[in-house]
Amino acid sequence: MAKRQTAMKTFLEKGEKLAEEFPEESLNTLRKFWEAAIKELSERYECEGATNQHTSSNLRKRIPPRLFYYLQHIQSMGNYGSHFQEDGVEPSIEDARYCVYAGQELMQWIHPETNEYLANKKENFIKVIADAVPCQHCEQPIGGVCLKKNGLPTATNCEHTVRKNAYSSYRRNYQKQYNTTIADAMHELIIELNIKNGQYLEAKDIRNWFDKNYPAYTENAVNSHAMMMATNLKTRHSHPVSKNGDSKYNLFFAENRKFRLYEAKNDPTPLQFGKPNPFTTNEEGI
Ligand SMILES: [Zn+2]
Repeated sequence: MAKRQTAMKTFLEKGEKLAEEFPEESLNTLRKFWEAAIKELSERYECEGATNQHTSSNLRKRIPPRLFYYLQHIQSMGNYGSHFQEDGVEPSIEDARYCVYAGQELMQWIHPETNEYLANKKENFIKVIADAVPCQHCEQPIGGVCLKKNGLPTATNCEHTVRKNAYSSYRRNYQKQYNTTIADAMHELIIELNIKNGQYLEAKDIRNWFDKNYPAYTENAVNSHAMMMATNLKTRHSHPVSKNGDSKYNLFFAENRKFRLYEAKNDPTPLQFGKPNPFTTNEEGI
């Protein structure tokens, strides 16, 4: 591993360790991670500026926005961490945790090979936690069941929290490689299964298709997307207003606990996304 890469990894790990007890020191450590990260990126994109600040601005157009925001956030919080006395409010554990998260996302993007749990799409998605990731708490390797203090194995889904977290990140990394969204995959399903107007689909047909094609999406996420994409289910009220007007989400019509394709010509107008505001009068002005 290159020297700077090792340093970045070390700052990140140190920042993570400090986050729970010493948030401001964690933020200061992550600020060092930030310095190394912009140095690395500015060499990669040949855009080094006279100061770190210039370098940082030069990166804006060169890296994906999400990662640029993470960089900016770590930088700002690093400043806050070292000067918090000025406004008298200490940085919180949550502040530090979010910066650790931002740093990890950056690290994974800058050096994908450093991520221990980086999923390989060519491998099948592993559904059993113990078979996918090791446990850093009871030090069980992959394949080893978590052990309680008394040496007995834990029940399924009662693995140690660090292992569950590692598994979530394994799942997320796998999802990133899909390069799609659940909503788009839902349309893919309709085409692949050649679903015709009036034909019924059960929730379990949808789940089975996802299980075969996109196993890293959780059953829960798939179910709630199917419901959200049904034009006549009230669950739409609890989804963001921004989805209104995007016909991608007007896919299904729910009937008798089953789904069929929504037909704009015959079916009622899709329900709106977003909760109706109780403080405004309705359209009739009543
Ligand atoms: Zn364990």
